Amino acid sequence: MNRREFLAAFGGAVAAPFASIVASVGSQASTGRRVVVLWPRDRVVASFVIDDSTCLVNMGHFCMPQFAEAWPKRSEYQKPWWEWPREIPDSFVEQFLDFCEEFDVRGKYSVVPYPALVGWLDRELPGWPRSALRRSLQLVRDRVLERFDIHPEMLTHTRVVDIRTGRPLEPVSSATMENSFPQERKSVDELAAYIAYSLRILRNCELPCEGITTPGGFGNRVKSELSLAVQHAVTDVFAAEIPHYFKYIVGGDRLPEPKLEHVSRDASGQYRLTVNVPAGTGDWFGGWNGDRKPEPDRYCTVDGTGGRMVEMIERGGPAIMFCHWPGLYSHGALAGFHAFQRVIRTLAQKYGSRLHWMKMSAIARYAAARELTAIEVREDRIVLNAPFACPEFTVRLTGPPPASVVLHAGGTQRPLRRVQDRRQLEPGTWLPAADGNLVCFDLPKGKSHLELGPA
Ligand SMILES: [Zn+2]
Repeated sequence: MNRREFLAAFGGAVAAPFASIVASVGSQASTGRRVVVLWPRDRVVASFVIDDSTCLVNMGHFCMPQFAEAWPKRSEYQKPWWEWPREIPDSFVEQFLDFCEEFDVRGKYSVVPYPALVGWLDRELPGWPRSALRRSLQLVRDRVLERFDIHPEMLTHTRVVDIRTGRPLEPVSSATMENSFPQERKSVDELAAYIAYSLRILRNCELPCEGITTPGGFGNRVKSELSLAVQHAVTDVFAAEIPHYFKYIVGGDRLPEPKLEHVSRDASGQYRLTVNVPAGTGDWFGGWNGDRKPEPDRYCTVDGTGGRMVEMIERGGPAIMFCHWPGLYSHGALAGFHAFQRVIRTLAQKYGSRLHWMKMSAIARYAAARELTAIEVREDRIVLNAPFACPEFTVRLTGPPPASVVLHAGGTQRPLRRVQDRRQLEPGTWLPAADGNLVCFDLPKGKSHLELGPA
């Protein structure tokens, strides 16, 4: 199952490089100042995208026979799945999270709601006591959510289900498998209904979602409709402000820049949009069924000088890495996990706090705020009108250092603290630097401004 081809077509005119987003230059004649929105805290954004995860069920074991049935001629589906463990235990989830906490790794973690038709996560998982399912969901709520967005990866990741009856569509073929569905045009409403159905099961599990992941080629023939359907479904079920999705992988000389899609304003003037957040690597750990030999050097070599992650970081990021959950577990041998640990340790050693790990929803929010906040430069202030609040909003302000920077918002004034070093840059601080004054603050929704003391 080749999930996502490296999309050469991605972006094109879109994905304007960050630094090119320059605020309107108000009274440039008198101040000469310009404002450029940077990434948070002027660091390099990183994220870790995990597909094919769920509670307890090893998707490698359970998906393989269903894929083999739908694509009988493909040799990659003729593997001894019956020898592979049926479970990826919660003890491994904890081990994985312990490591992510140590290095502050964040990203996205799928929870397939009706994994490979084995059972409904909001009801019953045949093969496990209900108490085990409940404990497993509790672990996702208590610990995974803190650092990873939870996405449904559609409903089953295998068979398409008739959402009126709850039964898988017949006959078994590529046309009734989620990762190659739909094979004809589908309306936005039809797609949104299917996505919302998947989201509601996670809502029943008390797992809040701001986005979804497509299983492999889901929606390939209806890419624009899919994006709008995500917006409708995620808004309907979770009232999320900034719906996002993961579907694409970009390679070659492209960076995985988030892309705003279907941007509009409703009657009240509030923006509606979908953010498409791609990843920038293939799965070079254990693959979707966990039997591949990991190739960690393709992410980052042992000496930290090469690999796709290094390449993306050196270009300023974002650096978004991708893998499948069964490929970290490696049928219990943890080969993929150990390779992942090695990559993260090398990156941490080389880049330290220059790397800024973010959840996918935080990247989507930042991209939306960066592109949709109206910024006006005046003599003594920067005036901001933000459709979305955005933590760690960071701008570069050209021109001489002002005497002071004060954030005015909602009738309050907050002086920003001047710091001496880029590493000290955090919300509520500013730094005069050779390339301009860096200002970092939690951007409030609505109107605010930065008052600049005379230079
Ligand atoms: Zn998948």
